[in-house]
Amino acid sequence: MVGQALTSVAIVGGGPGGLGTAIALSKLPFLRVTLYEKNPEPREAGAGISLSTNAWKVLDLLGASDGVKGGSKSNTHQRNAYTGKVLSVVQNPENSEAHHRGAIRARRTRLQSALLAKVPEGIIKYGKKLVFLEDLPGHGVRLVFEDDSEVIPDIVVGADGLHSIIRKALFKDHQLHFTGNSAFRVLVPRSKLSHIPDITSTTAWWWGEAGHVYLSDVDDEDESADPLFEITVRSYREPDIPGKTVFWGIPATNQKVGSRVENFDQRLKDAIRAVPEGEWREFATFAGPRLDKIIGWDKIALIGDASHPLSGAFGSGATFAMEDGWILARALELTHSAGLPAQEALEIFDHIRSPYYAKMYRNLDETKAKMQQFKVENTEFDAFLKAKIDTFLYGDKDFIHKNDIEKVWKDYLLTQVRSK
Ligand SMILES: Cc1cc2nc3c(=O)[nH]c(=O)nc-3n(C[C@H](O)[C@H](O)[C@H](O)COP(=O)(O)OP(=O)(O)OC[C@H]3O[C@@H](n4cnc5c(N)ncnc54)[C@H](O)[C@@H]3O)c2cc1C
Repeated sequence: MVGQALTSVAIVGGGPGGLGTAIALSKLPFLRVTLYEKNPEPREAGAGISLSTNAWKVLDLLGASDGVKGGSKSNTHQRNAYTGKVLSVVQNPENSEAHHRGAIRARRTRLQSALLAKVPEGIIKYGKKLVFLEDLPGHGVRLVFEDDSEVIPDIVVGADGLHSIIRKALFKDHQLHFTGNSAFRVLVPRSKLSHIPDITSTTAWWWGEAGHVYLSDVDDEDESADPLFEITVRSYREPDIPGKTVFWGIPATNQKVGSRVENFDQRLKDAIRAVPEGEWREFATFAGPRLDKIIGWDKIALIGDASHPLSGAFGSGATFAMEDGWILARALELTHSAGLPAQEALEIFDHIRSPYYAKMYRNLDETKAKMQQFKVENTEFDAFLKAKIDTFLYGDKDFIHKNDIEKVWKDYLLTQVRSK
């Protein structure tokens, strides 16, 4: 059973979720926190990451907003990928002067560095790949690492991402499947693309029938004379092959990426060709059903992608992971001050976060159903795209991008006061 004196917590995984949780938990003096990361050093394979109001909120709470800079997404164009026709232009209201920070696209390494800077010295153990775990009833969880070392913490935070070994241990029947959707991603100096009309002038999505191309600045204008620019090519009908899980950040040739946009507008093909050979990375996305509970063994909390394999569907997964960690910290703080066991904190964490993920899965299902309906209703491709864009990108997503995690916690406390 979890003790009350100095409770040991092992966080497994040093992505945004694990790092955010390490920051939040290490502020609680009754915990002894250690983070175990399998990589031998900080590593971040992705290109850019979108951060909206929800991200700023949790980054502020973690004290990690400073240094997170990126390209503004104030002006976003949606285009037909074959003809280049502009179907929609959106001025992001979050980027208005009324808001001190708006939606940005940042280098992933920037977010990682900002979080790492706030994790207290000595907490992170690199080169620690978790290979086995078991419940020790009445004690903690036995964690065994690839180097044969072991620890028995009181509480474990499973922040080990999409292919979480901790999720597999808790929920043996839960299966992931390859979505058929892969992302090819790269960051290049903007100067390499600026000769191509309409490629670097705005954040843009160019939509095709079996894929799309996303283009965005990832650096603040003032940061560099030659800021970096992101190109992501999404391909929706990739073949599934055995061992597909290793397709995560692996190199892809220009020829391979180019073959996914063969019928697209020449400007896109030129942009892809302008990327130096060897720079593209491929990411195969996996998804799985929602877990009814994101805690287990009375001692483990799953956070981030480990708890909800949504395959990046909302472009906000890093924020969800950090929000999870912050809520877990508040729950542990509350139960500790009330003299309750940490197990109660895990229940509170689950009570707050599971319904939020349920809402996301519902939203995904509804969006999918609407897409099918649009296909039937709109035989004309631009009309279909327009309907898709309005729903997929801009419809009913405030519960994500404007989520105020501090208010979520305060609302929970209010419900507790009222129910007494
Ligand atoms: C194509 C794509 C685009 C996306 N775009 C966005 C976006 O714009 N904005 C956004 O917010 N999110 C985006 N996401 C989602 C986002 O990347 C993830 O949701 C986020 O990284 C999840 O954070 P995490 O900490 O839970 O997991 P991860 O970032 O996956 O981190 C897991 C960590 O655990 C470590 N680990 C794994 N197994 C073990 C083990 N056995 N032992 C020890 N360590 C281990 C890994 O090395 C890694 O460091 C996107 C995802 C995809 C696929």
